[in-house]
Amino acid sequence: MVERQLRRRGISDQRVLEAMREVPRELFVPEEQRRRAYADSALPIGSGQTISQPWIVAAICQSLELAGPERVLEIGTGSGYSSAVLALLAAEVVTIERHAELAQEAEARIRELGIPNVEVVVGDGSRGLPERGPFEAIAVHATAPRPPRSLAEQLAEGGRLVIPIAQRGADMLTQYRRRGDEVVAEVIGPCRFVPLIGEEGFES
Ligand code: SAM
Repeated sequence: MVERQLRRRGISDQRVLEAMREVPRELFVPEEQRRRAYADSALPIGSGQTISQPWIVAAICQSLELAGPERVLEIGTGSGYSSAVLALLAAEVVTIERHAELAQEAEARIRELGIPNVEVVVGDGSRGLPERGPFEAIAVHATAPRPPRSLAEQLAEGGRLVIPIAQRGADMLTQYRRRGDEVVAEVIGPCRFVPLIGEEGFES
């Protein structure tokens, strides 16, 4: 997976490649999907949701430009896989999931693996967690109609928000970087995600 799906397709951050090598993806998929755990695709995890394709998890992590000491806010815990990867790349991860059942299952996996620096929160992550910000990095694993204003406001100086934004015909993974009062956007590339449902996302 690391050589064929990630390195060959432009993932070059060594810390991200190591983290992706280390996290046992098969423990984050339902029993009946274990055989396909390292396939180059998203897989169903229940509640109508998916664990993302390995490449997109790595691309988001790389675009967050993590060095190690950061506090990261993650929206869309899903199976908890990307949270476990982020936990190896940053000091602290707060992850929000709107489906309580998925959040509980993700938390159980994370505790079972003895990962100490991930906190799972149930709720609408489209507004972030203003009382816990600012964050050096914010990762969103669901497509928003536009960059949620609240998330941009919770970025620390120099902080990065990586989020898929719905555009005509495709979702575009986009990095937003706070520079003083400005937030500078850079498009990373096309992707496909489930919708971000919530106050600053799509209606359910
Ligand atoms: N990163 C996850 C993983 O590694 O398994 C996969 C995430 S899945 C593609 C997107 C997740 O975002 C879904 O579990 C969905 O329920 C969640 N989601 C959608 N809108 C949300 C919101 N407003 N707040 C929190 N979670 C949300």
